[in-house]
Amino acid sequence: MEDIEHIEKKVKLMDASGRRLDGRKSDELRPIRVEAGVLRRADGSAYMEWGGNRVLAAVYGPREAHPRHLQDPARALVQCRYNMAPFSVSDRKRPGPDRRSVEISKVISEAFSSVVFAEQFPRTSVDIFIEVLQADAGTRCAGLSAASVALADAGVPMRDLVASCASGKIEGVVCVDLNKDEDNFGDADCPMAIVPRTGEIVLLQMDGHLTYDEFQKAMDLSIGAAHRIYELQRDALRRRYSVTLEDILKESPPLPPPPPSEEPLPPIPPEDDFGPEGI
Ligand code: ADP
Repeated sequence: MEDIEHIEKKVKLMDASGRRLDGRKSDELRPIRVEAGVLRRADGSAYMEWGGNRVLAAVYGPREAHPRHLQDPARALVQCRYNMAPFSVSDRKRPGPDRRSVEISKVISEAFSSVVFAEQFPRTSVDIFIEVLQADAGTRCAGLSAASVALADAGVPMRDLVASCASGKIEGVVCVDLNKDEDNFGDADCPMAIVPRTGEIVLLQMDGHLTYDEFQKAMDLSIGAAHRIYELQRDALRRRYSVTLEDILKESPPLPPPPPSEEPLPPIPPEDDFGPEGI
């Protein structure tokens, strides 16, 4: 019987010209679309399509932290729950938390803890929910990038948005933004997230092996990609909050009709009406 290792070796992930199975070059991202403010009940929300990924993020807070014993008298808790819907992958995923979702929730909470001005909101929590509706690898990066837009949409004060992307290695070539086949059959996957304004890294993980040079190349690709994602995040927020003259005219009430023309002023009295002395 063929072992898994042997089957994996047979999957061809790149053609002779260096194009990947979906036609991308090594430094090319999958198509990305972001929308801010898509849920009415949440304080902030965002929806992101990233290649085959479909991710929804909702943010509540800062609100009183529950249970109370978790409250921090000095700062807000930044809590994240990442969840993959049972229908998000081709084999039905068992509903509910598992080791992987607990790990992803933790690393995303930590990434946001370093950008949110948590000390301004003691005893509260900022709750971030990420729901993966359709998964095609890179869901933690998509979830984190969407959650960042949702936090901004909720008006949570933070130093900057966080933008995230993964790079990895397939057939010995370092590539950005691996899809599911590349993630499954490739050699390494290295998700990361940065604060674009400062370049600070707030999430970095690695699955597989990269040499030092490959790691440097992967970081360069991911940082470049994160800056492009940052632009898309800002565009989504601009679209949500920018106001055109047309919007103002649409929303402002119609002007009241002009007041009826006033009575003509009474005629000026003759001079001897000013007083007996004629002052
Ligand atoms: P990420 O989605 O951040 O890349 P992983 O590397 O752990 O995280 O997962 C890669 C992909 O594997 C996921 O995007 C998803 O398509 C698939 N996957 C993860 N967990 C499951 C699961 N329990 N069942 C089926 N597919 C899964």
